[in-house]
Amino acid sequence: MHFDLSKPNLLMGGIVLTLAALAGLELAPQRTLELTAPGAVGNLYLSTPGETPGQAPVQWVDAEHLRWRCHYTAAANYQPCGLTFSLTGDDPAHGMDLSRFDTLEMDLAYKGPAHFVRVAVRNFDPRFSRLDDGNSSRIHSVNLRPRDIARPVTLDLSELTVPEWWIQQFDLPREYNRPSLENATALSIDLPSDLTGQEHELQLRRLVLKGEWVSRDRVYLAILCAWLLGASLMVLRGWKQLSQSNTRQQREIDALTARTRQLRVEQDKLRRLATIDELTGVLNRRGLEQALDDFEEAAQGMTLVMLDIDHFKHVNDRHGHDCGDEVLKRVTAVVAANLRASDVFGRLGGEEFLIACQGTRVRDAARLAEKLRERVQQSEINSSAGRITVTASFGVALAPPGAPAAGALKRADEALYRAKEAGRNRVETDKSLVSDSPTTV
Ligand code: GH3
Ligand code: MG
Ligand code: MG
Repeated sequence: MHFDLSKPNLLMGGIVLTLAALAGLELAPQRTLELTAPGAVGNLYLSTPGETPGQAPVQWVDAEHLRWRCHYTAAANYQPCGLTFSLTGDDPAHGMDLSRFDTLEMDLAYKGPAHFVRVAVRNFDPRFSRLDDGNSSRIHSVNLRPRDIARPVTLDLSELTVPEWWIQQFDLPREYNRPSLENATALSIDLPSDLTGQEHELQLRRLVLKGEWVSRDRVYLAILCAWLLGASLMVLRGWKQLSQSNTRQQREIDALTARTRQLRVEQDKLRRLATIDELTGVLNRRGLEQALDDFEEAAQGMTLVMLDIDHFKHVNDRHGHDCGDEVLKRVTAVVAANLRASDVFGRLGGEEFLIACQGTRVRDAARLAEKLRERVQQSEINSSAGRITVTASFGVALAPPGAPAAGALKRADEALYRAKEAGRNRVETDKSLVSDSPTTV
């Protein structure tokens, strides 16, 4: 079931149902009890039916049509002139529950000088009512003027109140004097005035009790509860959807964050791979270029040592390419083991390497190159073809502070070429430096 009132048809459905319930309340048949219908109540009688027909003060004119008259010739304390409907069955203490009714419709014709016609209901309450005293059943009454009943009248049962004289006469605890029609034993219509010497004639044409089958208040309450329930469910559902979407979004954010982190790791790896030589694990040409750019930016100056393995082609040719690879790795390890942490070392390509050292002391660089030359020469490489030894040639050059590295690289290459020319397994320094100022040599 969906209670999403943002959906217009659901909202419309709710409104239609509410209107239908309200219309039903108006159109629904009412609970009805017509007391004047023949046989509706077991017993109806005049208050003091005449003992001798024609002479009693109260007597029927037309019993069938509930028409009676009263004529009192002498004054008395109480001069009943009423028609009473008995609402009890076999048990005189057990009456009808008139609280289920809301109104009393009455069509009463009265002819006479009395100021009031009284409608009264007796309610038997076992807490204080006694069967041997009819007056001890609490009375609820309303006095109507003849002009009030000139036409059929509808009384609200709440107009019936407990009269002061009854409250004073019985002097009961206050809560017993509250109106209650739950156990009504009799309903009567009479004249509450001094009737002496006057003619009074009454005819009750119609007397009907009416009430709702379902209390209006209850229907309103039910409608209100239904709307409140609907609204609560809607709020609950909205809250649930919101929290679900929050959770989903959080999950997506977490996934994105994890993916971003992973991508960054991969990116770092790729960046590293892009600058690292796969075979030897040292910087490749690209990595070296970046390092030289950094040196350039720092404008500190640097010395370059370029290294090329001698007759490497022969190694490959004689021992195979794999063996050549082993040689490359071994030479890399030998060189790396003899460098400082601040030195930059990488493979320019093939069997050619470059070392860049901070500072401009060419003599130190040449000394380093000489040391490396010796170590390479001394190192033996164990290969499947047996022990191999190789030599390398070195070219040394200087990149002064602020000068581009490319020029120094070229000069180092030229020095290396001269080392090759001169018979290999040697260190040659850039010619211009040998005759240059002593501060840089
Ligand atoms: P030189 O003394 O004049 O330097 O002679 P060389 O033989 O060392 O130089 P050359 O340029 O004639 O040959 C270099 C060889 O290095 C050719 C090439 O096949 C080989 N080479 C380049 N890269 C690799 C590599 O990654 N692995 C192996 N095994 N050989 C390589
Ligand atoms: Mg070579
Ligand atoms: Mg070469």
